[in-house]
Amino acid sequence: MMSAVLGHADLHSRPVRLIAGWRCLRCNTAYEAHRTNPIGCVSCLAQGIHASLRADYSATPSMRVLQAYDRPFSLGEGNTPCTPSPSLARTTDVVQLWIKDESCNPTGSHKDRMSAIGITQALEMGAHTVVLASSGNAALSAARYAQAAGLRCEVAAYDGLPRAYAKLLDEYGAVCHSFADNEGRWAFVRERAQQLGYLALTNYSLPALGSAPLAIEGYKLIAQECIDNAVSPTDVVVPTARGDLAWGIFAGFRELLHAGRIAVLPRIWIVEPFARLSKVLAGAELHATYSGQTAQFSTAGATVTYLQYQAATASLGGAVVVNDAAAHSARDELLALGISAELCAAAAYSAITTLRKEERISASSRVLWLLTANASRDPSFPT
Ligand SMILES: [Zn+2]
Repeated sequence: MMSAVLGHADLHSRPVRLIAGWRCLRCNTAYEAHRTNPIGCVSCLAQGIHASLRADYSATPSMRVLQAYDRPFSLGEGNTPCTPSPSLARTTDVVQLWIKDESCNPTGSHKDRMSAIGITQALEMGAHTVVLASSGNAALSAARYAQAAGLRCEVAAYDGLPRAYAKLLDEYGAVCHSFADNEGRWAFVRERAQQLGYLALTNYSLPALGSAPLAIEGYKLIAQECIDNAVSPTDVVVPTARGDLAWGIFAGFRELLHAGRIAVLPRIWIVEPFARLSKVLAGAELHATYSGQTAQFSTAGATVTYLQYQAATASLGGAVVVNDAAAHSARDELLALGISAELCAAAAYSAITTLRKEERISASSRVLWLLTANASRDPSFPT
């Protein structure tokens, strides 16, 4: 049942979409706004690059980054703590380190920022169901937001979904479907997305494009929150699967740069459990499959998107591989200090030391570390 208490938007008062159309991330070709979720740039695809589209605003940012809706549906996500940690800065040999604690969002991860916009979009278009491919934080978040908004949620998960996740999804009223591989999950989401009344929140393309373009714009507010709180990183380390979060943070800072709110774009460092983007940045094919096993549940997967490629290259950052052994060691080190981080977020913390040792960042770097969710979210975490 819809609760008027929970959201700014409701089913009788639809939010107003504020975008003028779409533009290609890569070649800037403009597309009309009529598509609910565009399937990528046709011009780039003709050259063999699957590049996604971003929202194109008629307004220009000034004091605040632009968002797709005037009154997004909300469960209170965002404005998460951004805490300076002098001791972690000393340990990692940088001058400043802030912990951006996304575990404080309503369902415990950064994904709530994406769900808020995705659910708003679903309400705006009169959808009855949101559908997504996820076996983790995104599924829990979308299911909870859909439930609060009075929408249905279908989840395409991997076989062997951890019991804790299955139980929560059931509590949130989501319908789960199991698949052995990405192809199966994405084919399911693609088929649903073509039906009337469904809105897809995550990727369903091969080669992968990334999640719903309006929804990932919710991540731009992380950059805004930094500026609002006088947090001025030179470097941002982000655990990354397909790059939605990394690109959103990059896009937010880019808008603030264009608006004159910051002088220099922070470098975005994509942290991955095995080499994917790292290989692409060394010259390998963007759309190849990069298989690997990892316990870093939230950043598994074999694909690279143009989103993460752009975030790394246009910000003059790069990619860092942190293997599971280093991630486990970092998670234990952080837990001993009272900081609970899911394995991939601990890997991002570990990446700061790697970046320093390799002299890709300097002792005068001011680092923003994205703590995407806490350790209890890892299926491998003993409870
Ligand atoms: Zn293009």
